[in-house]
Amino acid sequence: MRFDKVIAGGNVVTPGGTFTGDVGIVGEKIAALGATLDREGAQVIDARGHHVIPGVLDVHVHLELPFCGTVSADDYRSGTRAGARGGVTTVIDFAIPSAGGTLADAADTWMKKAEGKSLIDYTFHICITRWNDHKDQIAGMVERGFTTFKEFMIYESEGWQSDDRALYGTLEKMKELGAMLLVHAESSRVLDELISRHHTAEEMKRLGARLHAITRPNFVEAEAIQRAVQWCEATGGQLYIVHMSTAEGTDIIRAAQARDVPVIAETCVQYLVLDDSVFAREDGHLYACCPQLKKPADSERLWQGLRRGEVSVISTDTCTFTREQKAMWEGDWTKIPMGMPGLETLLPLTYTRGVLEGRLTLEEMCMKLSTNPARIMGLAPRKGAIQIGADADLAIIHPTSTRRVASGKGGEMETNADWSPYEGWDLAGFARTTLSRGEVVVDDYKVVGREGRGQWLRRESAGLRIPVGGRRLEVGAGASGESYRQPPTSHPPLAGAR
Ligand SMILES: [Zn+2]
Repeated sequence: MRFDKVIAGGNVVTPGGTFTGDVGIVGEKIAALGATLDREGAQVIDARGHHVIPGVLDVHVHLELPFCGTVSADDYRSGTRAGARGGVTTVIDFAIPSAGGTLADAADTWMKKAEGKSLIDYTFHICITRWNDHKDQIAGMVERGFTTFKEFMIYESEGWQSDDRALYGTLEKMKELGAMLLVHAESSRVLDELISRHHTAEEMKRLGARLHAITRPNFVEAEAIQRAVQWCEATGGQLYIVHMSTAEGTDIIRAAQARDVPVIAETCVQYLVLDDSVFAREDGHLYACCPQLKKPADSERLWQGLRRGEVSVISTDTCTFTREQKAMWEGDWTKIPMGMPGLETLLPLTYTRGVLEGRLTLEEMCMKLSTNPARIMGLAPRKGAIQIGADADLAIIHPTSTRRVASGKGGEMETNADWSPYEGWDLAGFARTTLSRGEVVVDDYKVVGREGRGQWLRRESAGLRIPVGGRRLEVGAGASGESYRQPPTSHPPLAGAR
């Protein structure tokens, strides 16, 4: 068999096991896997001494989002360049209707943001912000190829909030249509009350950005997750909790999955590697995101949840603001634009803190960053795994060599952020090479892909409860790594070196 490209001699992670050998690519697709493939006439990409892993799907990003009185600083150009450098080959953003706008308008608006700019493939979750107006538009969006929807339990002043009626009704619709509802779970009334109690000149002067953590105790998230899970259980509609940050939330998900409730949970990498002690720093306000960073014990519980299966996906909630934008707070924590850059460091952080520090195996990492998100978001088998017939979306990473995170001028980061939560960290796992649909978009750690080459991805399904190929896919306690055969050791010896 002749190939256009052969990725040669790498440590290749596939759902069937990890092996040292070649990946053959014809056009945009993976055509063969083998110990030694025919290289005649093919462009050979040397992967000896490197891991070859499926391209990462960051299924929770906000690019060019109008939010907190400004617009997030990474657009589809800089955001997807940053992603590619971190081995990300697919992003899913959130299309949010304007005041009075329809779901279709929101999708059109976000399509325009991405078209002609995105380096990698993309699609959107459709946000339902006004249940009464939007409920009859959901079926039409599914027909158009959007199978995931989002509701916020907070953000009343932005006009985005959904109440219990909306959550319950949407979950019923999800069951009827085979779609899935993503929920931002925080308890809005109690949160508002805590914010108003602490919103005094004296406390703001004394505590500054620490008030962000003080006003969002863990029960604010846990109560909302519990309530959303209750509606999920009552309706049977598929539910996905976004950016879960607490140990309590993880316990609730574990208990629900044990009762066979169709709920899936995502965490973001910042909740795994940072904690709320950063708010005491002089630049602590930079770290404000929503939900905010929690305690080290929460991070530990989330890592455990990833291993045991109750946490299925790691994403970023990328929502970049520059130092200048963050400075808008002027001492009032309720005015800090909430969000952090993330796309570029998702894989390096998960690999360095997860795999190299022994919290996850290489195969488990690929499940959480690629295979699970692709399946759950209705993009499998096209995306998310190195297997014959799938898109040739791949990242080639060195097992140990690190690069230092250095933002701003003189640094090598692609994000428009002039700071990083991980400034000065030495991380392994940046992509030496990234391929998107068979095309090299990152070579020797530099972005070489053309902007606008990314494609919108149509979807037909979502969640894990819909029969795929006649077989019901499962996720749940202990089941998340089931389709990846583990090698005898998590780090097989690597032959050769570049
Ligand atoms: Zn978000």
